[in-house]
Amino acid sequence: MIEGWVFKKQQFVKPLSHSLKQLVFLKAIICGFKAVFLNSMAYKFVDNYRERGARKKLVEHLKSRGIADQRVLNAIGKVPRHFFFDETFWTQAYKDIAFPIGDGQTISQPYTVAYQSELLHIKKGDKVLEIGTGSGYQTCILMELGADVYTIERQESIYNHTLKVLPGMGYNATFFFGDGSKGIAQHAPYHKIIVTAGAPFVPEILLKQLKIGGILVIPVGNEHSQTMVTVIRVSDTEYEKFELDTFRFVPLVGDQAW
Ligand code: SAM
Repeated sequence: MIEGWVFKKQQFVKPLSHSLKQLVFLKAIICGFKAVFLNSMAYKFVDNYRERGARKKLVEHLKSRGIADQRVLNAIGKVPRHFFFDETFWTQAYKDIAFPIGDGQTISQPYTVAYQSELLHIKKGDKVLEIGTGSGYQTCILMELGADVYTIERQESIYNHTLKVLPGMGYNATFFFGDGSKGIAQHAPYHKIIVTAGAPFVPEILLKQLKIGGILVIPVGNEHSQTMVTVIRVSDTEYEKFELDTFRFVPLVGDQAW
């Protein structure tokens, strides 16, 4: 039986011209690649009516909670938050909650992401330093607002994961691995700096990395609760500080942190 099958196969292949054989071979490689690569990615990058509908509802919910900047709402309406979740948890993706992403860290609550984004007043082309890349969801929102994002994460496994996921979604930020509590001096100054983890104080070194007119947004407090603080650099030596609402973030860990 087996010999017969081989014979038939040879008979079929033999009459093919050399270039046709090459074409068949190439097609087989492409099909194999599609099967392996797309199969592993497909579920991640499906954005169907159910998810789009849930995203619209989330935008309405954020509006009702007081997020007024239409550009921020548009960005939330555009970035598929379920791409940052395992498929098993897609039903959680458009709830206004933080969610575990592993290693004791979380993807920030949509309201918090929108709130911090609004405070930054991003203009197209702004150079933004994000401290605490995490899942990369906030990074995508900043990029949708037109920012050129430099983002740093201190947990290696999270850094490695997000480094792959974001470019796959078409968001090409500049990624760094390390302690962001000291900022990234070699790329300073920045128009805006956002810290997405709770700090014990405002690190002076971050203030020095702001452009004149630049804005820092950072949650400051203890391990249970932090006040959202914005600092505007008014001149070389002057800063204006504003204290806003209360949130609960995972801790900023590092040299100028916990
Ligand atoms: N905005 C992110 C998102 O949407 O997924 C959530 C970030 S999560 C709340 C805070 C992140 O800050 C964590 O991934 C944590 O590892 C990181 N982090 C904490 N301290 C840091 C530091 N000193 N430098 C860089 N990243 C830090």
